[in-house]
Amino acid sequence: MLNILKDISTMGRRKKASKPPPKRKAIEPLDTLFNCPFCNHEKSCEVKLDRERNTGVITCNVCLEDFQTNINYLSEAVDVYSEWIDACESANQ
Ligand SMILES: [Zn+2]
Repeated sequence: MLNILKDISTMGRRKKASKPPPKRKAIEPLDTLFNCPFCNHEKSCEVKLDRERNTGVITCNVCLEDFQTNINYLSEAVDVYSEWIDACESANQ
């Protein structure tokens, strides 16, 4: 009997406006454009992921610097870019 009363009272307090938060899009359309570490142009570097050859290529559309690295199935465009940045930094040392 007590349990029934409990159930009724919790049902009455149930919020109707408890919608789940809207899903954020994981992939943005311009997510493959990055700032160039050579000419410092913004969003001038485009990444192309060749999934069949497991190769990622990033090319600057302004100064035409490019960089190629191996990718795996988990790799994203930003991974190719950060590899490029790492390679630039180690080259500068
Ligand atoms: Zn550039």
